[in-house]
Amino acid sequence: MIVLTLGALVVGPSYGQNQPILGNEIAKVSDHVWAIMGWPNIGIVVGREATLVVDTGLGPRNGELIARVAKKLAPGNKLYLTTTHFHPEHAAGASGFPAGTILIRDKVQQEEMDQRGAEMIRMFAGRNDEFKELLANAKPNTADETFDKERSLDLGGGVKARLLWFGGAHTKGDELAFVEPDKTLISGDVVQNKVVPSIVGGGTPASWIAVLD
Ligand SMILES: [Zn+2]
Repeated sequence: MIVLTLGALVVGPSYGQNQPILGNEIAKVSDHVWAIMGWPNIGIVVGREATLVVDTGLGPRNGELIARVAKKLAPGNKLYLTTTHFHPEHAAGASGFPAGTILIRDKVQQEEMDQRGAEMIRMFAGRNDEFKELLANAKPNTADETFDKERSLDLGGGVKARLLWFGGAHTKGDELAFVEPDKTLISGDVVQNKVVPSIVGGGTPASWIAVLD
């Protein structure tokens, strides 16, 4: 199994928390999965009929860039978007995606977005001028579709993405995406590397371990 973590601290030295603008270079992770490595890493899953993007980057400008990259990979595909959790660098760029993009996330995550999304965007915008500019037009967003524990997305040509919610870890609404037949897991901030796991109003250490199990 391949694990593509999206955590802030798992990437190379050229991308730190101060590099909020994604590049358009892509890395192939497995047969149907690509990634834009940055803050955070963005997953792009390409089937024969549809493409699923996992996470948006910080603000609409990053969302636009990701949508362009996804379109270049598969120009005629229908576009799905999902977010691993409601934090702004993962979810506040949704409005940069083109009209017709279908946004899906788990119910618990949507509730967190509704309750704390605006507060979190304000907090991030207050960190520095660049974040403020990137988030100027960002708003908490509402998914077109939500699910309880699992939603299986058929992308065509035998490619499936299982969107999964197992409980609270980094946040309450952490979502994972498991891509078949690649066996690639896009884990969001549930898998963090060389950092003390940060629980941001999410689960408990025990529930985090249960999610990993
Ligand atoms: Zn986070």
